[in-house]
Amino acid sequence: MSTDHPKTPIMEQELRTLEHEASQDLERIDTANGLEEFRIRFLGRKGRFSAIMEQLKSVPKEDKPRLGQLANTVKKQVEQAFSDKKDQLASGGGPTAAQATAVDLTLPGRRPERGKLHPITQIMTEVCAIFESMGFSVAEGPDVEQDRYNFEALNIPAHHPARDMHDTFYISDSILLRTHTSPMQARIMEQQDPPLRVIAPGKVYRCDSDITHTPMFHQVEGFLVDTNVSFADLKGVLSVFTQKIFGADLPLRFRPSFFPFTEPSAEVDIACVICNGKGCRVCKKTGWLEILGAGMIDPEVFKQVGYDPEKYSGFAFGLGIERIAMLKYGIDDIRLYYENDLRFLSQF
Ligand SMILES: [Zn+2]
Repeated sequence: MSTDHPKTPIMEQELRTLEHEASQDLERIDTANGLEEFRIRFLGRKGRFSAIMEQLKSVPKEDKPRLGQLANTVKKQVEQAFSDKKDQLASGGGPTAAQATAVDLTLPGRRPERGKLHPITQIMTEVCAIFESMGFSVAEGPDVEQDRYNFEALNIPAHHPARDMHDTFYISDSILLRTHTSPMQARIMEQQDPPLRVIAPGKVYRCDSDITHTPMFHQVEGFLVDTNVSFADLKGVLSVFTQKIFGADLPLRFRPSFFPFTEPSAEVDIACVICNGKGCRVCKKTGWLEILGAGMIDPEVFKQVGYDPEKYSGFAFGLGIERIAMLKYGIDDIRLYYENDLRFLSQF
C-alpha cells in the first residue's frame, strides 16, 4: 500500500497542523506588521508551506495527486483567511465582507407586516355605521347599470342637459357604468313601499381625472320616504352625520342648487374643519366646505316608481367618500388614495 511509505502520513499530518496553526495565529493578529510576519512565516518562499511542499518530491508517485490536491486546498484556505484578515485590518477591524453577509441565527425574526383597511374603506364603513345608528339600512346595487335607472327614472330623460354634467362611460346605448349611486333610489322604491330609510354605498364612474377627480370614486346615496317628511328632517339627519363623522358640532349651510331628481335641491356646506370657519386655503377663504348634495325627492321620481306624491314625501342626499376622507385627513390630492403607496396608506 502506498500509505506504507513513511513520508505520506507525515506530510498529510503536517498539512493539517499547518492549517490549524495558521488559523489560530491569524485570530490573534491585530496589526499590519504582525500580518506580514505571518505571511512570511507561512506563505513565504522559505516559509512552512514551502517546506512541506518540498516533501512532495519524495512521496510515492501514486500518492502525489491526492497529497497535491490536499496541499492546494490547504494553501487556498490559508491564503483566503490571510486576505480576509488583511481586509478586516484595512477597514478598521470591522467585519469582513464574508462575515457581513453571514446569517446571524441569534437575531430576532422580522415580523410580517399586518395589513390594514384602505382609508376609503374605513371612511365608508364609518359613514354606514353612523346612518345605521339612525335606523337606515344598507343596500348595494350593480356598478354596470341600465340607462333607465341611472337617468330616466331619476327624471333625466335623453337629451336632458343634466346628462352633460356626468361624463358617462357608456357600454352600449342603454348600458353604462353608473355615474352616481342614485339609481338605487329607483331600484329600491320599485320593489318596496314606504316607509323607507336606506343608504346605498358603492363605486361610481365618470370620465374625469385631476387632483380632485378620479375616473372611479365612491359615493353614499341616502334617502328617506314616509308621510310628512320635511326639509327640517333632512337637516336634522345631516347635522347628526357631520357631527359624528368630523367629531365636532359644525354649523351647516344649505345653498339652493339643482338636481333633476330633487325639488327643491341644495348643496350642503359645513363650516371649514381646517380653520373652523375663519377662512383658509382649503376653504378658499370662505370658511365653508361643500360636502354633499341633497334635496326633497321630486314628485316625478315617485310617479316613475308608482308612489302617490300626494301621500308621500322624502329626501335624498349623496355624498362623496373621497371628499369626506380628504377633509377628515387633510389630503389635498385625491389620486394619492389610488397610487397604492404603502407609505401613504399605512398612516391611516
Ligand atoms: Zn378653512
